[in-house]
Amino acid sequence: MEKTKTINPATGEEIASYDRISAEAAKEKIAKANEVFLSWKQTSFEERAKLMHALADIFEDKKEEYALLATREMGKIIAQSESEVEKCARICRYYADNAASLLANVSVDTEASKSYVTFQPLGVLLAVMPWNFPFYQVIRFAAPALMAGNTCVLKHASNVQGCAFKLQEIIEAAGFPKGIFSNLNIDSEAVKEVIENKHIKAVTLTGSEPAGRSVASIAGENLKKTVMELGGSDAYIFLEDADLDKATDLAVFGRLQNNGQTCIAAKRFVVLEEIYEEFLEKFTEKMKAKKMGEPTDEDVFLGPMARADLRDELHEQVEKSVSQGARLVIGGEIPDEKGAYYPATILAEVTPGMEAFDNELFGPVASVIKAKDAKHAVELANNSSFGLGSGVITNDTKRGEEIALQLEAGNSFVNKLVVSDPRMPFGGIKNSGYGRELSGYGIREFTNTKSVWID
Ligand code: NAP
Repeated sequence: MEKTKTINPATGEEIASYDRISAEAAKEKIAKANEVFLSWKQTSFEERAKLMHALADIFEDKKEEYALLATREMGKIIAQSESEVEKCARICRYYADNAASLLANVSVDTEASKSYVTFQPLGVLLAVMPWNFPFYQVIRFAAPALMAGNTCVLKHASNVQGCAFKLQEIIEAAGFPKGIFSNLNIDSEAVKEVIENKHIKAVTLTGSEPAGRSVASIAGENLKKTVMELGGSDAYIFLEDADLDKATDLAVFGRLQNNGQTCIAAKRFVVLEEIYEEFLEKFTEKMKAKKMGEPTDEDVFLGPMARADLRDELHEQVEKSVSQGARLVIGGEIPDEKGAYYPATILAEVTPGMEAFDNELFGPVASVIKAKDAKHAVELANNSSFGLGSGVITNDTKRGEEIALQLEAGNSFVNKLVVSDPRMPFGGIKNSGYGRELSGYGIREFTNTKSVWID
Protein backbone atom coordinates (compact mmCIF):
# COMPACT_ATOMS: atom_id res chain seq x y z
CA MET A 1 0.00 0.00 0.00
CA GLU A 2 1.37 3.39 -1.01
CA LYS A 3 1.92 5.83 1.86
CA THR A 4 1.65 9.59 2.26
CA LYS A 5 4.39 10.99 4.46
CA THR A 6 4.19 14.23 6.34
CA ILE A 7 7.50 16.03 6.84
CA ASN A 8 8.28 18.86 9.24
CA PRO A 9 9.66 21.54 6.88
CA ALA A 10 11.59 23.19 9.72
CA THR A 11 13.73 20.08 10.22
CA GLY A 12 13.19 17.82 7.20
CA GLU A 13 12.17 15.03 9.59
CA GLU A 14 9.27 12.70 8.96
CA ILE A 15 6.27 13.26 11.27
CA ALA A 16 3.95 10.42 10.27
CA SER A 17 2.86 8.28 7.36
CA TYR A 18 -0.65 7.42 6.25
CA ASP A 19 -1.86 4.66 3.94
CA ARG A 20 -3.32 5.97 0.70
CA ILE A 21 -6.82 4.59 0.32
CA SER A 22 -7.76 2.38 -2.63
CA ALA A 23 -10.22 3.42 -5.35
CA GLU A 24 -12.68 0.91 -3.86
CA ALA A 25 -12.40 2.44 -0.37
CA ALA A 26 -12.89 5.93 -1.83
CA LYS A 27 -16.05 4.70 -3.57
CA GLU A 28 -17.40 3.37 -0.28
CA LYS A 29 -16.79 6.68 1.49
CA ILE A 30 -18.57 8.56 -1.31
CA ALA A 31 -21.51 6.13 -1.18
CA LYS A 32 -21.68 6.64 2.58
CA ALA A 33 -21.64 10.44 2.15
CA ASN A 34 -24.52 10.07 -0.28
CA GLU A 35 -26.47 7.89 2.14
CA VAL A 36 -25.94 10.46 4.90
CA PHE A 37 -27.05 13.21 2.51
CA LEU A 38 -30.50 11.65 2.14
CA SER A 39 -31.23 12.21 5.83
CA TRP A 40 -29.01 15.27 6.41
CA LYS A 41 -30.85 17.33 3.79
CA GLN A 42 -34.06 16.85 5.83
CA THR A 43 -32.60 18.35 9.00
CA SER A 44 -33.51 21.87 10.08
CA PHE A 45 -31.13 24.82 10.14
CA GLU A 46 -31.46 24.80 13.94
CA GLU A 47 -30.20 21.21 14.20
CA ARG A 48 -27.31 21.92 11.85
CA ALA A 49 -26.45 25.15 13.69
CA LYS A 50 -26.23 23.36 17.02
CA LEU A 51 -23.59 20.99 15.63
CA MET A 52 -21.75 23.80 13.87
CA HIS A 53 -21.48 25.71 17.16
CA ALA A 54 -20.21 22.51 18.82
CA LEU A 55 -17.53 22.33 16.13
CA ALA A 56 -16.58 25.97 16.83
CA ASP A 57 -16.28 25.10 20.53
CA ILE A 58 -13.85 22.28 19.71
CA PHE A 59 -11.68 24.61 17.61
CA GLU A 60 -11.60 27.09 20.47
CA ASP A 61 -10.91 24.49 23.19
CA LYS A 62 -8.14 22.74 21.27
CA LYS A 63 -6.61 25.78 19.60
CA GLU A 64 -3.04 25.19 20.80
CA GLU A 65 -3.04 21.52 19.83
CA TYR A 66 -4.34 22.09 16.30
CA ALA A 67 -2.10 25.10 15.76
CA LEU A 68 0.94 23.03 16.63
CA LEU A 69 -0.14 20.30 14.23
CA ALA A 70 -0.46 22.81 11.38
CA THR A 71 2.90 24.40 12.21
CA ARG A 72 4.63 21.05 12.30
CA GLU A 73 3.14 19.94 8.98
CA MET A 74 3.55 23.12 6.93
CA GLY A 75 5.81 25.49 8.86
CA LYS A 76 3.48 28.42 9.65
CA ILE A 77 4.66 30.44 12.65
CA ILE A 78 2.75 29.38 15.71
CA ALA A 79 0.93 32.68 16.40
CA GLN A 80 -0.47 32.63 12.87
CA SER A 81 -1.51 28.97 13.21
CA GLU A 82 -3.43 29.92 16.34
CA SER A 83 -5.14 32.76 14.48
CA GLU A 84 -6.05 30.29 11.74
CA VAL A 85 -7.76 27.97 14.22
CA GLU A 86 -9.62 30.91 15.79
CA LYS A 87 -10.77 31.94 12.32
CA CYS A 88 -12.18 28.43 11.78
CA ALA A 89 -14.32 28.83 14.90
CA ARG A 90 -15.54 32.24 13.70
CA ILE A 91 -16.56 30.92 10.30
CA CYS A 92 -18.46 28.00 11.86
CA ARG A 93 -20.36 30.43 14.09
CA TYR A 94 -21.04 32.82 11.23
CA TYR A 95 -22.70 30.13 9.13
CA ALA A 96 -24.42 28.57 12.15
CA ASP A 97 -26.04 31.94 12.88
CA ASN A 98 -26.69 33.10 9.34
CA ALA A 99 -27.30 30.12 7.03
CA ALA A 100 -31.07 30.18 7.53
CA SER A 101 -31.37 33.83 6.54
CA LEU A 102 -28.81 33.57 3.73
CA LEU A 103 -30.76 30.65 2.24
CA ALA A 104 -34.26 31.95 2.98
CA ASN A 105 -36.73 31.72 0.13
CA VAL A 106 -36.90 34.82 -2.04
CA SER A 107 -40.43 35.71 -2.99
CA VAL A 108 -40.92 36.95 -6.58
CA ASP A 109 -43.76 39.16 -7.69
CA THR A 110 -45.41 37.48 -10.71
CA GLU A 111 -48.96 36.71 -11.88
CA ALA A 112 -48.77 33.34 -10.02
CA SER A 113 -50.70 32.88 -6.80
CA LYS A 114 -47.31 32.22 -5.22
CA SER A 115 -43.83 32.26 -6.76
CA TYR A 116 -40.45 32.20 -5.13
CA VAL A 117 -36.84 31.05 -5.38
CA THR A 118 -35.62 28.39 -2.99
CA PHE A 119 -32.10 27.06 -2.40
CA GLN A 120 -31.76 23.30 -2.04
CA PRO A 121 -28.62 21.28 -1.33
CA LEU A 122 -26.98 19.41 -4.20
CA GLY A 123 -25.57 16.28 -2.52
CA VAL A 124 -22.01 15.08 -2.06
CA LEU A 125 -19.34 17.68 -2.84
CA LEU A 126 -15.69 16.98 -3.55
CA ALA A 127 -13.21 19.49 -2.17
CA VAL A 128 -9.60 19.52 -3.39
CA MET A 129 -7.66 21.67 -0.95
CA PRO A 130 -4.16 23.18 -0.48
CA TRP A 131 -1.78 23.02 2.45
CA ASN A 132 -1.25 26.73 3.05
CA PHE A 133 -4.15 27.16 5.52
CA PRO A 134 -4.67 23.47 6.25
CA PHE A 135 -7.66 23.96 8.58
CA TYR A 136 -9.15 27.21 7.37
CA GLN A 137 -9.32 26.47 3.62
CA VAL A 138 -11.29 23.31 4.36
CA ILE A 139 -13.64 24.93 6.87
CA ARG A 140 -14.21 27.86 4.50
CA PHE A 141 -15.94 25.47 2.12
CA ALA A 142 -17.23 22.86 4.61
CA ALA A 143 -19.09 25.14 7.07
CA PRO A 144 -21.41 26.66 4.43
CA ALA A 145 -21.67 23.37 2.52
CA LEU A 146 -22.83 21.44 5.60
CA MET A 147 -25.15 24.21 6.77
CA ALA A 148 -26.77 24.20 3.31
CA GLY A 149 -27.47 20.47 3.71
CA ASN A 150 -24.71 19.02 1.54
CA THR A 151 -22.21 16.34 2.56
CA CYS A 152 -18.51 16.29 1.64
CA VAL A 153 -15.46 14.30 0.72
CA LEU A 154 -12.04 15.90 0.96
CA LYS A 155 -8.88 15.39 -1.07
CA HIS A 156 -6.43 17.44 0.95
CA ALA A 157 -2.83 18.26 0.04
CA SER A 158 -0.62 15.25 0.71
CA ASN A 159 1.73 17.10 3.09
CA VAL A 160 -1.04 17.99 5.61
CA GLN A 161 -2.77 14.65 6.07
CA GLY A 162 -2.58 14.97 9.87
CA CYS A 163 -4.75 18.11 9.65
CA ALA A 164 -7.05 16.39 7.13
CA PHE A 165 -7.74 13.42 9.42
CA LYS A 166 -8.06 15.74 12.41
CA LEU A 167 -10.82 17.66 10.61
CA GLN A 168 -12.74 14.46 9.90
CA GLU A 169 -12.33 13.42 13.53
CA ILE A 170 -13.54 16.69 15.04
CA ILE A 171 -16.50 17.07 12.69
CA GLU A 172 -17.67 13.69 13.96
CA ALA A 173 -16.79 14.62 17.56
CA ALA A 174 -19.01 17.70 17.24
CA GLY A 175 -21.93 15.33 16.67
CA PHE A 176 -22.33 15.44 12.89
CA PRO A 177 -23.36 12.05 11.48
CA LYS A 178 -20.48 9.68 10.74
CA GLY A 179 -19.60 9.80 7.05
CA ILE A 180 -20.91 13.34 6.47
CA PHE A 181 -17.33 14.49 5.88
CA SER A 182 -14.62 12.00 4.90
CA ASN A 183 -10.98 12.55 4.22
CA LEU A 184 -9.96 10.60 1.10
CA ASN A 185 -6.26 10.13 1.35
CA ILE A 186 -5.82 9.72 -2.42
CA ASP A 187 -3.23 11.12 -4.80
CA SER A 188 -4.05 13.70 -7.43
CA GLU A 189 -4.31 11.09 -10.24
CA ALA A 190 -7.16 9.42 -8.38
CA VAL A 191 -9.21 12.63 -8.35
CA LYS A 192 -10.55 11.97 -11.87
CA GLU A 193 -12.35 8.81 -10.82
CA VAL A 194 -13.85 10.58 -7.81
CA ILE A 195 -15.19 13.41 -9.98
CA GLU A 196 -16.71 10.83 -12.35
CA ASN A 197 -18.51 9.06 -9.49
CA LYS A 198 -22.26 9.53 -9.96
CA HIS A 199 -22.78 10.65 -6.36
CA ILE A 200 -20.39 13.60 -6.66
CA LYS A 201 -22.53 16.56 -7.59
CA ALA A 202 -20.01 19.41 -7.63
CA VAL A 203 -16.35 20.16 -7.03
CA THR A 204 -14.52 22.99 -5.29
CA LEU A 205 -10.77 23.40 -5.65
CA THR A 206 -8.42 25.77 -3.93
CA GLY A 207 -4.92 25.52 -5.27
CA SER A 208 -2.67 26.34 -8.18
CA GLU A 209 -3.67 27.22 -11.71
CA PRO A 210 -2.48 23.89 -13.23
CA ALA A 211 -4.44 21.85 -10.66
CA GLY A 212 -7.47 24.05 -11.31
CA ARG A 213 -7.28 23.59 -15.07
CA SER A 214 -7.02 19.83 -14.73
CA VAL A 215 -9.86 19.41 -12.22
CA ALA A 216 -12.15 21.94 -13.95
CA SER A 217 -11.73 20.21 -17.30
CA ILE A 218 -12.55 16.77 -15.89
CA ALA A 219 -15.56 18.22 -14.06
CA GLY A 220 -16.57 20.01 -17.27
CA GLU A 221 -16.55 16.76 -19.24
CA ASN A 222 -18.82 15.34 -16.57
CA LEU A 223 -21.04 18.46 -16.47
CA LYS A 224 -20.37 19.02 -12.80
CA LYS A 225 -20.31 22.49 -11.36
CA THR A 226 -17.01 23.82 -10.04
CA VAL A 227 -15.74 26.69 -7.94
CA MET A 228 -12.08 27.49 -8.54
CA GLU A 229 -10.00 29.44 -6.01
CA LEU A 230 -6.61 29.63 -7.69
CA GLY A 231 -3.35 31.53 -7.47
CA GLY A 232 -2.69 35.22 -7.66
CA SER A 233 -0.03 37.83 -8.14
CA ASP A 234 -1.74 40.59 -6.23
CA ALA A 235 -0.66 44.14 -6.95
CA TYR A 236 -0.73 46.90 -4.35
CA ILE A 237 -0.39 50.46 -5.62
CA PHE A 238 1.45 52.90 -3.37
CA LEU A 239 0.45 56.44 -4.29
CA GLU A 240 2.77 59.43 -3.75
CA ASP A 241 0.80 60.68 -0.73
CA ALA A 242 0.98 57.36 1.19
CA ASP A 243 2.33 57.41 4.74
CA LEU A 244 5.48 55.40 4.07
CA ASP A 245 5.94 54.13 7.61
CA LYS A 246 2.48 52.59 7.67
CA ALA A 247 2.69 51.56 4.03
CA THR A 248 5.91 49.63 4.51
CA ASP A 249 4.65 47.94 7.70
CA LEU A 250 1.70 46.74 5.67
CA ALA A 251 3.96 45.68 2.80
CA VAL A 252 6.17 43.57 5.07
CA PHE A 253 3.24 41.83 6.73
CA GLY A 254 1.51 41.37 3.38
CA ARG A 255 4.53 39.67 1.86
CA LEU A 256 5.80 37.61 4.80
CA GLN A 257 2.58 36.47 6.41
CA ASN A 258 2.25 32.67 6.29
CA ASN A 259 5.91 32.55 5.23
CA GLY A 260 4.93 34.26 1.99
CA GLN A 261 2.52 31.49 1.00
CA THR A 262 -0.87 33.15 0.89
CA CYS A 263 -2.96 33.34 -2.27
CA ILE A 264 -3.89 36.94 -1.47
CA ALA A 265 -0.43 37.96 -0.30
CA ALA A 266 0.84 41.27 -1.63
CA LYS A 267 3.21 40.05 -4.34
CA ARG A 268 3.72 42.99 -6.70
CA PHE A 269 4.41 46.36 -5.09
CA VAL A 270 3.67 49.05 -7.66
CA VAL A 271 5.20 52.26 -6.34
CA LEU A 272 4.96 55.75 -7.85
CA GLU A 273 8.35 57.05 -8.87
CA GLU A 274 8.25 60.07 -6.52
CA ILE A 275 8.39 57.75 -3.49
CA TYR A 276 10.05 54.70 -5.04
CA GLU A 277 13.53 55.08 -3.51
CA GLU A 278 12.27 55.97 -0.05
CA PHE A 279 9.72 53.13 -0.12
CA LEU A 280 12.39 50.66 -1.15
CA GLU A 281 14.79 51.80 1.55
CA LYS A 282 12.23 51.53 4.38
CA PHE A 283 10.79 48.28 3.03
CA THR A 284 14.26 46.72 2.81
CA GLU A 285 15.17 47.77 6.33
CA LYS A 286 11.97 46.26 7.76
CA MET A 287 12.15 43.03 5.73
CA LYS A 288 15.74 42.53 6.93
CA ALA A 289 14.68 43.03 10.56
CA LYS A 290 12.25 40.10 10.55
CA LYS A 291 13.77 37.06 12.16
CA MET A 292 13.73 33.78 10.24
CA GLY A 293 13.84 30.48 12.13
CA GLU A 294 12.02 27.72 13.97
CA PRO A 295 8.29 28.53 13.59
CA THR A 296 7.42 27.64 17.18
CA ASP A 297 9.82 30.31 18.55
CA GLU A 298 7.87 33.36 19.55
CA ASP A 299 10.33 35.94 18.22
CA VAL A 300 10.41 34.38 14.75
CA PHE A 301 8.34 36.04 12.03
CA LEU A 302 9.44 33.96 9.03
CA GLY A 303 9.33 30.17 9.24
CA PRO A 304 10.33 27.66 6.56
CA MET A 305 8.42 27.17 3.36
CA ALA A 306 6.06 24.21 3.37
CA ARG A 307 8.22 21.85 1.29
CA ALA A 308 11.81 21.85 0.08
CA ASP A 309 10.78 21.30 -3.56
CA LEU A 310 8.58 24.43 -3.43
CA ARG A 311 11.49 26.40 -1.94
CA ASP A 312 13.78 25.22 -4.74
CA GLU A 313 11.23 26.21 -7.40
CA LEU A 314 10.89 29.66 -5.85
CA HIS A 315 14.66 30.08 -5.88
CA GLU A 316 14.73 29.22 -9.59
CA GLN A 317 12.11 31.90 -10.21
CA VAL A 318 14.26 34.43 -8.36
CA GLU A 319 17.35 33.49 -10.36
CA LYS A 320 15.42 33.66 -13.60
CA SER A 321 14.08 37.12 -12.72
CA VAL A 322 17.59 38.35 -11.93
CA SER A 323 18.87 36.97 -15.23
CA GLN A 324 16.04 38.91 -16.90
CA GLY A 325 17.21 42.18 -15.32
CA ALA A 326 15.54 42.40 -11.90
CA ARG A 327 17.80 43.79 -9.16
CA LEU A 328 18.28 41.58 -6.12
CA VAL A 329 18.15 43.94 -3.12
CA ILE A 330 18.21 41.42 -0.26
CA GLY A 331 17.89 37.66 0.18
CA GLY A 332 17.90 35.37 -2.84
CA GLU A 333 20.16 32.70 -1.35
CA ILE A 334 19.23 29.30 0.02
CA PRO A 335 20.58 29.17 3.58
CA ASP A 336 23.09 26.49 4.40
CA GLU A 337 20.98 24.78 7.07
CA LYS A 338 18.43 22.01 7.38
CA GLY A 339 14.80 22.77 6.65
CA ALA A 340 13.00 24.40 3.72
CA TYR A 341 14.01 27.96 4.60
CA TYR A 342 14.13 30.86 2.18
CA PRO A 343 15.02 34.36 3.33
CA ALA A 344 12.94 37.51 2.95
CA THR A 345 13.88 38.62 -0.56
CA ILE A 346 13.31 41.81 -2.53
CA LEU A 347 13.56 42.13 -6.28
CA ALA A 348 13.50 45.73 -7.52
CA GLU A 349 13.01 47.31 -10.94
CA VAL A 350 10.77 44.41 -11.89
CA THR A 351 9.06 44.95 -15.24
CA PRO A 352 6.51 43.09 -17.40
CA GLY A 353 7.97 40.05 -19.13
CA MET A 354 10.05 39.04 -16.11
CA GLU A 355 9.21 35.88 -14.18
CA ALA A 356 8.65 37.91 -10.99
CA PHE A 357 6.10 40.09 -12.78
CA ASP A 358 4.26 37.53 -14.89
CA ASN A 359 4.00 34.55 -12.56
CA GLU A 360 3.04 33.90 -8.98
CA LEU A 361 5.96 33.83 -6.51
CA PHE A 362 4.58 31.68 -3.69
CA GLY A 363 7.07 32.48 -0.96
CA PRO A 364 8.73 35.42 0.81
CA VAL A 365 9.85 37.28 -2.32
CA ALA A 366 8.60 40.80 -3.09
CA SER A 367 8.61 42.29 -6.58
CA VAL A 368 8.94 46.07 -6.50
CA ILE A 369 7.80 47.86 -9.64
CA LYS A 370 8.19 51.55 -10.55
CA ALA A 371 5.21 53.43 -12.01
CA LYS A 372 5.33 56.87 -13.70
CA ASP A 373 1.96 57.94 -12.35
CA ALA A 374 -1.32 56.54 -11.05
CA LYS A 375 -2.62 55.69 -14.54
CA HIS A 376 0.56 53.76 -15.29
CA ALA A 377 0.28 52.02 -11.90
CA VAL A 378 -3.22 50.79 -12.76
CA GLU A 379 -1.97 49.53 -16.15
CA LEU A 380 0.86 47.65 -14.46
CA ALA A 381 -1.41 46.20 -11.78
CA ASN A 382 -3.88 44.99 -14.42
CA ASN A 383 -1.12 43.61 -16.66
CA SER A 384 -1.45 40.14 -15.14
CA SER A 385 -3.09 36.88 -16.07
CA PHE A 386 -4.34 36.70 -12.45
CA GLY A 387 -7.07 38.69 -10.71
CA LEU A 388 -7.48 37.67 -7.09
CA GLY A 389 -6.73 40.51 -4.65
CA SER A 390 -5.42 44.06 -5.08
CA GLY A 391 -5.01 47.23 -3.10
CA VAL A 392 -4.31 50.93 -3.04
CA ILE A 393 -2.40 52.72 -0.31
CA THR A 394 -3.01 56.46 -0.11
CA ASN A 395 -4.00 59.25 2.25
CA ASP A 396 -6.80 60.22 -0.13
CA THR A 397 -9.41 57.49 0.34
CA LYS A 398 -11.72 58.92 -2.34
CA ARG A 399 -8.97 58.71 -4.94
CA GLY A 400 -8.06 55.28 -3.55
CA GLU A 401 -11.60 54.06 -4.08
CA GLU A 402 -11.67 55.38 -7.67
CA ILE A 403 -8.48 53.47 -8.40
CA ALA A 404 -9.64 50.34 -6.56
CA LEU A 405 -12.67 50.20 -8.86
CA GLN A 406 -10.36 50.13 -11.90
CA LEU A 407 -8.40 47.11 -10.67
CA GLU A 408 -9.13 43.78 -12.34
CA ALA A 409 -9.51 41.55 -9.29
CA GLY A 410 -12.13 39.83 -7.17
CA ASN A 411 -11.12 41.90 -4.12
CA SER A 412 -9.82 45.48 -4.04
CA PHE A 413 -9.06 47.07 -0.68
CA VAL A 414 -7.95 50.61 0.16
CA ASN A 415 -5.40 51.08 2.97
CA LYS A 416 -5.81 47.49 4.12
CA LEU A 417 -4.46 44.16 3.01
CA VAL A 418 -7.08 41.94 1.44
CA VAL A 419 -8.48 39.48 3.97
CA SER A 420 -11.22 36.90 3.68
CA ASP A 421 -14.14 37.85 5.89
CA PRO A 422 -17.18 35.56 6.16
CA ARG A 423 -19.51 38.53 5.57
CA MET A 424 -17.95 39.41 2.20
CA PRO A 425 -17.65 37.25 -0.93
CA PHE A 426 -14.17 35.97 -1.73
CA GLY A 427 -12.79 34.78 -5.05
CA GLY A 428 -11.03 35.77 -8.24
CA ILE A 429 -11.34 36.53 -11.92
CA LYS A 430 -9.07 35.68 -14.89
CA ASN A 431 -6.70 32.80 -14.09
CA SER A 432 -7.35 33.22 -10.37
CA GLY A 433 -10.54 31.24 -10.88
CA TYR A 434 -14.26 31.75 -10.69
CA GLY A 435 -17.16 31.38 -8.31
CA ARG A 436 -17.23 32.78 -4.81
CA GLU A 437 -16.76 31.51 -1.29
CA LEU A 438 -18.07 33.09 1.93
CA SER A 439 -21.13 35.30 2.58
CA GLY A 440 -24.48 34.54 0.94
CA TYR A 441 -22.79 34.29 -2.48
CA GLY A 442 -20.59 31.45 -1.24
CA ILE A 443 -23.24 29.36 0.49
CA ARG A 444 -25.49 29.53 -2.58
CA GLU A 445 -22.77 28.22 -4.93
CA PHE A 446 -23.53 24.64 -3.95
CA THR A 447 -27.30 24.84 -3.93
CA ASN A 448 -29.93 24.35 -6.56
CA THR A 449 -31.40 27.81 -7.12
CA LYS A 450 -34.90 26.58 -7.78
CA SER A 451 -37.91 28.49 -9.11
CA VAL A 452 -41.21 27.45 -7.59
CA TRP A 453 -44.47 28.62 -9.18
CA ILE A 454 -47.94 27.90 -7.82
CA ASP A 455 -50.51 28.92 -10.41
P1 NAP B 1 -1.54 22.63 -5.68
O1 NAP B 1 -0.24 22.01 -5.93
O2 NAP B 1 -2.38 23.02 -6.82
O3 NAP B 1 -2.36 21.62 -4.73
C1 NAP B 1 -3.66 21.90 -4.29
C2 NAP B 1 -4.41 20.63 -4.16
O4 NAP B 1 -4.64 20.09 -5.46
C3 NAP B 1 -3.67 19.53 -3.38
O5 NAP B 1 -4.61 18.77 -2.69
C4 NAP B 1 -3.02 18.72 -4.49
O6 NAP B 1 -2.74 17.40 -4.08
C5 NAP B 1 -4.10 18.76 -5.56
N1 NAP B 1 -3.65 18.62 -6.93
C6 NAP B 1 -2.52 19.09 -7.48
N2 NAP B 1 -2.49 18.82 -8.81
C7 NAP B 1 -3.64 18.18 -9.08
C8 NAP B 1 -4.21 17.61 -10.27
N3 NAP B 1 -3.60 17.69 -11.43
N4 NAP B 1 -5.40 17.01 -10.18
C9 NAP B 1 -6.05 16.92 -9.00
N5 NAP B 1 -5.57 17.42 -7.84
C10 NAP B 1 -4.39 18.05 -7.88
O7 NAP B 1 -1.42 23.94 -4.78
P2 NAP B 1 -0.69 24.10 -3.40
O8 NAP B 1 0.78 24.10 -3.66
O9 NAP B 1 -1.23 23.15 -2.41
O10 NAP B 1 -1.20 25.56 -3.00
C11 NAP B 1 -0.64 26.71 -3.49
C12 NAP B 1 -1.52 27.34 -4.57
O11 NAP B 1 -2.85 27.49 -4.09
C13 NAP B 1 -1.04 28.74 -4.89
O12 NAP B 1 -1.12 28.94 -6.27
C14 NAP B 1 -2.06 29.61 -4.14
O13 NAP B 1 -2.15 30.92 -4.63
C15 NAP B 1 -3.29 28.82 -4.30
N6 NAP B 1 -4.31 29.17 -3.29
C16 NAP B 1 -5.41 29.86 -3.68
C17 NAP B 1 -6.35 30.27 -2.73
C18 NAP B 1 -7.58 31.02 -3.11
O14 NAP B 1 -8.47 31.15 -2.27
N7 NAP B 1 -7.71 31.55 -4.32
C19 NAP B 1 -6.12 29.96 -1.39
C20 NAP B 1 -4.98 29.25 -1.03
C21 NAP B 1 -4.07 28.87 -2.01
P3 NAP B 1 -1.26 16.91 -3.69
O15 NAP B 1 -0.83 17.67 -2.50
O16 NAP B 1 -1.43 15.46 -3.42
O17 NAP B 1 -0.39 17.23 -4.88
